[in-house]
Amino acid sequence: MLKFWFKEFPQYPADHIDYWRTRLIAHALLITTCYFLILTVINIVTFNDHHLALLDGVGLLVSLGIFVWFRGTGKVDSASWALTILVTALILLFVVTAGGYSHSLFWASLIPPFAFFLIGRTWGTVISVCAFVVCAVLVFLQVEAQQSVTFNTGSLLNVIEVCIAHILLFRFYERTRSSAYQQLAIRNAEIIKMAEIDKLTGLFNRDKLDTVLAECMQSLTDDSALSVMIIDIDHFKSINDQYGHLEGDRVLSALAVQLKQVIRDSDIIARWGGEEFVVVCANTPLGEAMELAQRLRKGIAKHATAKKSLTISIGVAENCVGDSAESLLDRADNALYRAKREGRNQVFTA
Ligand code: GH3
Ligand code: MG
Ligand code: MG
Repeated sequence: MLKFWFKEFPQYPADHIDYWRTRLIAHALLITTCYFLILTVINIVTFNDHHLALLDGVGLLVSLGIFVWFRGTGKVDSASWALTILVTALILLFVVTAGGYSHSLFWASLIPPFAFFLIGRTWGTVISVCAFVVCAVLVFLQVEAQQSVTFNTGSLLNVIEVCIAHILLFRFYERTRSSAYQQLAIRNAEIIKMAEIDKLTGLFNRDKLDTVLAECMQSLTDDSALSVMIIDIDHFKSINDQYGHLEGDRVLSALAVQLKQVIRDSDIIARWGGEEFVVVCANTPLGEAMELAQRLRKGIAKHATAKKSLTISIGVAENCVGDSAESLLDRADNALYRAKREGRNQVFTA
């Protein structure tokens, strides 16, 4: 509905700081345009008051002018100012014309929520203070004139209309607040994921591995075991040299998928560096970890063809009393070094 009126600006996507301001501007201009249009027609047709009709007609043109210009340029700051001035002038004109009687002053309470949202704290304060000073003067004049305040139908209508406007405005603001927090939560989750996931393979990166391994070692008890393995692709440099870096990347991500398929749900795998991976096996003594490592090695080697052979070497180590994450990985690395020295496509333990 009203698609011709509400335009989506590609430069202000849902997570942009000005997304909701563009919406408020479009909604408010729709209301002011309708308001002036109705008043112009009523003043001509019902009251035959051409002076007032002319004034309302000017308001209608200003409102439409701001809208057309905003649709064309998408300039949020300027449109915000234009709209704030229009709304403030409109309300003050009404309040002054009514002499502050019949509770018309209520309308001034709509100025701060509009002004603060559209033009910010500083100018929102200035405009609001100016509007409230005008109201205070009008009340002062009534006090001077010893004017008693009475509730009439006009008061009732003013109170009801302003209350509805406030509820609609605050519903709108609450929506902008909750939407901003939702966007923030989505962004935070993305950032956390980016900070712990290796982009190429989709596995945990080294930072996340350090955290996970430290947590596993902290939760170790006297009778629980923990093993780690370091996996390194054999002669990976020659794959890059022969088939190019991009093919090397594809081999790395395909290997990550294969390794993930073989490890158990309780194991944690991470990309440790270039063509090296680490698997943390919680509650796993050395013998079991060696079996898993052999399964991984054989699983990769069996896909080797005469044209393309891909093998891995693995160093395995089990946590000992007094080990730190660093010393444990160090022993697995030494075991890997032995596996390389002994001809590659091997599993060795520290
Ligand atoms: P070894 O059997 O002794 O492990 O030999 P290697 O060739 O696998 O080991 P080396 O350390 O000599 O070379 C590792 C190569 O891995 C060198 C580097 O260019 C490559 N490499 C590291 N990270 C990436 C990556 O993200 N993508 C690609 N395509 N290659 C990478
Ligand atoms: Mg290496
Ligand atoms: Mg290697």
